[in-house]
This record gives sequence, C-alpha cells and structure tokens, in this order.
Amino acid sequence: MRYHPFYCLLFVSSSLIAQQPTPAPADDRVGVYRTTEDPSLELRLDRREGQLIVSILGQGVVPLKEVSPGHYKLAIVKPVVTLDFEKDIAGNIIACRIFQKEPPHTWTRVGETSADPAGDYHLDINPYPIVHILNKNNSLFIQSGLHHESPLIKLGPGTYQYTYDDKKYGVKFQSGAGGAIKSVVITGSYPLRLTRVSKTLPHVSNRVNGFTHADTLQGMLTPVRSCYDVLFYDLALTILPETKSIRGSNTIRWRAVRPFRRMQVDLFENFSIDTIMYHGNQLAYIRDGNAVYVDLPAEVANGSIDELRIVYSGTPLQPDVEATKGGIFWLWDRNRQIWIESVTQGIGASVFWPCKDHLSDRPDSMRIRVTVPTGLTEISNGQLLNKVDLPSGQTRFDWYVDYPIVTYNVVFYVGDYVHFSDVYVRPAGDTLPLNFYCLRYNLDSAKAVFSDAKRMLALYERDFGPYPFPRDGYTALEGIYPMDHQGAVCIGPMRSPFNGDKYDGDVMRTMWHESAHEWWGNNVGCADYADMWIHEGFATYAGFLNVESLSGRAVAVKETLFGSPANKEPIIGVYNVNHFHMGDMYLKGALLLETLRSLTGNDSLWFSIFHAIQRRFRYTPVATQAVETTFSELTGKDYSWFFDQYLRHAAVPLLDLHFRQDGDRLYLTYKWVADVPGFRMPIRVSVAPGRLGFICPTTAPQTMELTGMTEKDFTVDTDHFYVNVKRE
Ligand SMILES: [Zn+2]
Repeated sequence: MRYHPFYCLLFVSSSLIAQQPTPAPADDRVGVYRTTEDPSLELRLDRREGQLIVSILGQGVVPLKEVSPGHYKLAIVKPVVTLDFEKDIAGNIIACRIFQKEPPHTWTRVGETSADPAGDYHLDINPYPIVHILNKNNSLFIQSGLHHESPLIKLGPGTYQYTYDDKKYGVKFQSGAGGAIKSVVITGSYPLRLTRVSKTLPHVSNRVNGFTHADTLQGMLTPVRSCYDVLFYDLALTILPETKSIRGSNTIRWRAVRPFRRMQVDLFENFSIDTIMYHGNQLAYIRDGNAVYVDLPAEVANGSIDELRIVYSGTPLQPDVEATKGGIFWLWDRNRQIWIESVTQGIGASVFWPCKDHLSDRPDSMRIRVTVPTGLTEISNGQLLNKVDLPSGQTRFDWYVDYPIVTYNVVFYVGDYVHFSDVYVRPAGDTLPLNFYCLRYNLDSAKAVFSDAKRMLALYERDFGPYPFPRDGYTALEGIYPMDHQGAVCIGPMRSPFNGDKYDGDVMRTMWHESAHEWWGNNVGCADYADMWIHEGFATYAGFLNVESLSGRAVAVKETLFGSPANKEPIIGVYNVNHFHMGDMYLKGALLLETLRSLTGNDSLWFSIFHAIQRRFRYTPVATQAVETTFSELTGKDYSWFFDQYLRHAAVPLLDLHFRQDGDRLYLTYKWVADVPGFRMPIRVSVAPGRLGFICPTTAPQTMELTGMTEKDFTVDTDHFYVNVKRE
C-alpha cells in the first residue's frame, strides 16, 4: 500500500503557527527524507532547543520522542507512529522507516458504484491517498500512489490478498443493495521507508542563516532580468489533484529595456521544462537552481516587443508552515470535496509558474486559464471571462486581470465554491462590482462576514483613496490560507477544516487586513521584500482604523496595538536577496504609523498623505525612501531621523527621565537615547497637573520645572507614542 500514515497529523497541524527558524547544532539524524513513490511526500528532521522535531511538508510539526535507544515515536499523533533509522555499513543514516499501528482502513468508492470492483477508492479522512482497483481480463490488481501495481489473489467471495514489499495485506470488498461495491477494507500495516536525500535542511532566507547564491538569483535585479520589462503573461494551467501535480504553459511578452540576447526567467527546479518556444522555434536554455537562462537566437533591439512561451510540468512544493514559505495547499473540505490554494508570497510565484519572479516587475495585464476536474470551481485573479466544459471531463476557467499585478498575487483556488455578488454604491453614486465565494456549507457565515465589506470599502476609500482596481471589481473569498491576492482576496477558512463546527470569529478582521493590501501591497507595493513593511505595517494599521471607526481611537489602541514587538531586528530587511521576513513589520509598523500620526497632530493632513502615496505610486513598486520622502514633503518636516530609528534600527527610542523634587516643584531632566544621532521626536507628557502637552527632547539632556507636581503625577503618552521610558 502506498498511502502514507501521516493523515493523523492533519489534526494537529491546524493549531500550528509559523515559527521563526533557529539555528540547529549538528545532529547526525537531521536532514530531508523522501519516499520514492510519492514525490510530494517529504519529511524533515531537525533539532531545536535540544529536541528532535519532525515536520511533514504541508502538514505539520511534531516532536520526536526516543522510546528506547534508537527507537522513536512521534509525539501527539494517534494511532502511534514509530520511527527507526536505517544505517549503512559505515554507520551513516541513509533512511528512516516509519510505522503506524493502524486499524483496518475503509476506502470509499469514488463516483458510481457497480458490481465490478474496478475503480478508484479514497480514505474518508484524507482525500489524496487514492487506491485504484484495476480489472484486466477478469484479473484484479491494486494500484496506489503513482507506480506500483500488485495482483489481488482471491481467498473467498469478495476477499483477496496481495503482497507488497514482502508484506501481506487483506482486501475485502463491501457491497450494498444489488451487489454494487461501495467500499473496500484493507488490513495490514507496513513500514514506510523514506530515503535520506540531504543531511542539511533547506535554506531559509534570514539574517541568522545568511544568504545563498539562490537568494541572490531570486532577489537581485541582475542585468539578465533588468534588460526586459514584462508587459503581459498568458498563463494556462491544468490542475491534477490526484497526483498533486500541474501541467502548464506561460507566454511572456516583454519590451526590451536595452539590447540583450540572454534573459533570466524563474521556475523552481523541481519542474521539468518541456520546451521554450520563440518565433516557432525551440530555444536553448541553462538552469541554475530556480533560475532559467534563456538564450535568444539573436540580440533584440532596445524597445522591441517580443514574446516566448514556456511549457512545463511537475509537482509543486507544498507549503513549509515552519518557514512561512508558500507552495500549494491540497486539502479536503468538510464534505470531502477537493480544496486547493496556491500561496507564493515569499517563496516566489515561480514555485508553480514560470515568470520574471521579482517584485519590481509587474505585467501590465494578465490572462490566467485554469483547467480543473468538472464539478469544481476555480477562482483566479481579476474578472471571470469564461467557463468552458471540456470533453475530457474537465472545466476551464478563463480569468483576466486588467491591471498590473505582482507575481506572488497570481493564484488558483479550487473547491466546491458557491458564488454570490453585490454592488457597492459609492457616496458619489458610481458603483463597484463585488464578488464573493465560499465553500458550499459556509454560505450563511460568508454572507454575515462579507456583509461588512461595503462598510470596510467605504472606510478605505475615505482614508486611503479610491479602490485601485475598479474594472476588475472587488473579490473576497474563503480559502485555506489568508492572503492578499489581488482581485481574489483570501480571508482564510470560515471554519477550520479540521475542527468540525468551530467557527473562526476572527475571519472578519482577517478580511480587513487582507483587503487593505489592495491599497498597500497590490497598488502601492515594495520593489524588494526588504521594504515589505509598506504592505504589512499599513495593512495592520488598517485593522486599527477599522476598530477606530467602530469603537473609537482609545479602544483601537487597546484592541489592536497591544503586545510588544520583538525589537531584535530592524523592520527593513536585507536588499537584493529575497529577504522575506515576518516579525516586527506588522505591529511595529502600525505602531510607528500611529506615533507619526500623533506627531503630525492633524488628521486631515495625515490621511491626505495616504491618499497622496496611493496616487503618486499607483501600480508602482516603490522603495521605503519614496514613502518617507512623501511624508516629509507633505508635512513640510524632515522625518528621516524618525524613519531611520524605527525602520533601520532594532531598538525603540528610550525616553530617559530623571526627577528631582524640591518642595512642590518637580525638576525633570529628559533626553532621548537612540541609535540615530539627530533623533529629536517631540512627545506628549504631563506639562502641568492633569494636563498633557508636547516637550521636544533631543539626545542632549534638558531640564524643565513643573510646579505643583510630584514624580507620581508625571505621565508619558505611551498609548500614542511607541517609545520606551526609563524613570530615575
Ligand atoms: Zn498582510
């Protein structure tokens, strides 16, 4: 049998959250292990804080407990999964074997039942292991996974046995009325052998681990990438859920920015490239990891418009939940319907389609055609132009994005979706089409959540400016992983697919956050992941503004700006190495905006700056510097010292206070302790009994006299200024 025993992990993985990777000491068991039968099944062993950790791509992470020397079991997972290592003669670990004590499994027939057992069967608990029963000239065979086929030896009526890998398995078909076979029970367990394919774990881009050649290939705008400007992508995909694989092609149309002959496109190395066509001829190419160097037959002239087409196929990576990197999620919904979502922010769009995978270059528009098994709904970005049923039992969905789009926003969702639409009528009377999708059984919840979309859009249009993609309309939908996909905003699952009826009440806040990215990220977005606070700081601040509009600013401060950032690394990452980093850019980004708003002290000026940034950098990848300059220009004040401290240094400015009481007079000596030499932020403090006002500390001490006050009466407005305070 080839179905793997990890489906139980699905039940623990739902509570997993992204964790920051930590460097691991050497351990001779650490590495990547993979089965030969299922290319998508990969297990990683790591050591963290003295503990061995097993992670299964796309599923979850559990600690490994040693039960006796050399023998382990996976914590939490039930039924118990044991793990042993296999060594070569020299004592090196070359594989691990996993064994799960299981009860007999019932596999339910997919589709029509009949007296002939030939057909497909799946587990009720996890859709992707599928067993095929084949009938060849009245001899039955069982096939699972991608390759193996074993003959079924008849033992009695409806009862068979087969052998795989020297192990015997029992097979019993179960029939219903009229003798139609509805399911098959398979007994017997087997150890699953995973070969060690690497002694090191895949590199995760961050400052701690350093950066690699691959990070530079993806993150740097080298001459082989900057030589062309993408105008249009024409992406066509066929999704094959059973093998978790895809086939596809992409036509890349570009304008030459200077004469060139060699160009880089990006496609993850686990895909095979079937052909690259140019003017009817196949092109030569060289692959270097995830980069593909394509050589044109002759140099193209500056300004010329041209195109090539890449045809490719393969099994895309599944998401690595630990490293918060993307991939393709393959799940079932609660009705056992296929549910799929692609998530590529960070890891890069080239994890499933070939493109110039750099944030600095958006096509002017894009066509996306996705073919899925008939009966399922597919959703991509922009406008649905067509839905075509194909004779192959598949349906093609044709989408068009009528605006520039960042490559990581390009998405496919597949599932048993239902659609409903609405219209947002703006105060001025013009309209914006709204489209919503949810899983069939979540329609009531979805209607309740999405009913807040008009209020939210009105708020964002007031505070940030007009919705940036009016021709495509606004679309929000339920999906597996919340993400700000342009024109197809995913708000996450309405209910956990793992926990039955548990309704995720926080999904509306997720809608606020992900929808804010239509302004911050999808319209005005960074040109390099190092500057991603422009997406996340502003989107987190949008959540704050939503609460402020509903409950007031004081409540918003309490409800959304609580907790404290780590302040271990600057918000701005490392440039040119695809430095996708999480952390402080969310909360600290929002806190710095609220601090700057308090500093500005003028809400109409404050929100006019947001509008100006949205207008000035419309559909344009920007650097932090451009955003900063706009703030300084429109406020008429140089705020470079402010942005430098909050964005480019880890530490928060410290307000250093010394008190001396003399009768009813309080003498206060104050100064800033900050990394930026000229740091000079005014801040609101007690300036008289019961009254707040601004003082203007610098990094040099100043003293003020407060009459009728004691140290206890003196407060600093840390609700609206994100600073640390030291009192002596
Ligand atoms: Zn976000």
